[in-house]
Amino acid sequence: AIAIHWFRHDLRLADNPALSAADARGRVVPVVIDDPALEAAHPPGSAFAWWRDRSRAALDRALGGALRVLRGDPATLLTDLATRHGASLVTWTRAYEPWTIARDTAVKAALKARGLSVESHNGALLWEPWETVKPDGAPYLVFTPFFRRGCLGAAQPRRPLPAPRLDPVPRAGDEPGVTTRSEAPWERKLARHWQIGEAAAKAALARFVEERLAGYAKGRDFPALSHTSRLSPHLAHGEISPNAVWHAVEGAGPAQDVASFRAELGWREFCAHQLFHFPDLPEAPLRPEFAAMPWREDAEALAAWQQGRTGVPLVDAGMRELWQTGYMHNRVRMVVASFLTKNLLIDWRAGARWFADCLVDHSPASNAASWQWVAGSGLDAAPYFRIFNPAIQAAKFDPEGTYIRRFVPELAPLPDRWIGAPWTAPETVLARAGLRLGRDYPRPIVDLAASRERALAAWHALRGNV
Ligand code: FAD
Repeated sequence: AIAIHWFRHDLRLADNPALSAADARGRVVPVVIDDPALEAAHPPGSAFAWWRDRSRAALDRALGGALRVLRGDPATLLTDLATRHGASLVTWTRAYEPWTIARDTAVKAALKARGLSVESHNGALLWEPWETVKPDGAPYLVFTPFFRRGCLGAAQPRRPLPAPRLDPVPRAGDEPGVTTRSEAPWERKLARHWQIGEAAAKAALARFVEERLAGYAKGRDFPALSHTSRLSPHLAHGEISPNAVWHAVEGAGPAQDVASFRAELGWREFCAHQLFHFPDLPEAPLRPEFAAMPWREDAEALAAWQQGRTGVPLVDAGMRELWQTGYMHNRVRMVVASFLTKNLLIDWRAGARWFADCLVDHSPASNAASWQWVAGSGLDAAPYFRIFNPAIQAAKFDPEGTYIRRFVPELAPLPDRWIGAPWTAPETVLARAGLRLGRDYPRPIVDLAASRERALAAWHALRGNV
């Protein structure tokens, strides 16, 4: 018998339960489908789409060139494909964004109405969002009980499945396959930082376990150390499963590092489950009082933030890391998000949109939940009044200025002591470094202390309204 596997954000062969289910039925017709209706409402970001296309190419190579790449209405295309190849089953990996669930539900109904069997499987999350709820069925609103009781209190995550030995149905000459477009300069720049595809994801995981898992709990906060796994884009595109990652660290390092790393995988779940239970997460503050926040319209400040020329070195280093590599270290993501939503008092949704377009690891759930977390309007959020001071953050987490020097090279000659806050350096120090603020590097576009007071005043006014 023949089964169709519809690849989406599960661009891998190993530990892909839906693909294994198709394989168990017989020969597999592998396909990806770009759905213009879904894309019109939720366009994939540029960096994300760049990675996705290359990941599809890697998958196609692993499938011996059998991957079909179609564009149009999935229900129609899958029905035609089933008719053409005599397939009786269609499988896919479940997605959990509310808009994708709605689309998939409609596709499933249409396929069933045309006599096809359909199976969806969990290959993206460690736990299903409906499994991690409180005994009364309500979702947990705070991370620690969510993770300890909701997740760890449920079943252990499934052990990963081996890759099936597939015998895919070859692509006919008139069936479109993967095409690689010529690369724009920004794409070539991103490409220097990453290896894409399932094999690369597996290698990245092995390297992390071998070299950086020990010391992760402390090291993960220091952007210059590269102590984290950098698995996020591989997970976002499904080149590796969270189960494979979860089980690979078992007993592979000091217990506290393993626990700390697994808790971060727990945050990934927390974000995904939040979006499932609160479909408005990307659009509206979860704490309704924040709807009245007096966000400022300031196109110039937003552009300075986007382009990494705010005059605040840790913020600029992070925004330039994002632009050059499609990635930003987590500590710095928190700092730049706090700077935008508090010091600049600009709406978190503007920041989330920029991230969505620039991140190779963009996840609608993790991005929206994290932005709301920093902005103070999300679940288990940092209280709004806890405002990061980016100069102090730099002194604490980039004490030698290594990260800042990497992405803001014009500040390199400054001594470590001043590099996170050059505006506080004496003129003689700046002169010795050959640096003039306002000429070689911007003065800060906001005064950190005054803008902090402005943010606090706005927040107090909100609270007064409750
Ligand atoms: P590691 O430290 O090695 O962690 C392992 C994995 O756990 C990650 O790959 C990721 O899947 C998950 N993880 C780690 N930290 C978090 C976290 N705080 N929240 C959710 N999952 C986490 N992550 C995304 O994957 N996509 C996004 O679009 C995204 N947007 C963010 C926006 C903001 C404003 C902030 C503050 C954080 C965002 N994050 C996002 C979370 C986090 O920054 C990244 O997952 C992490 O930096 C990825 O690097 P890593 O793989 O080396 O992480």
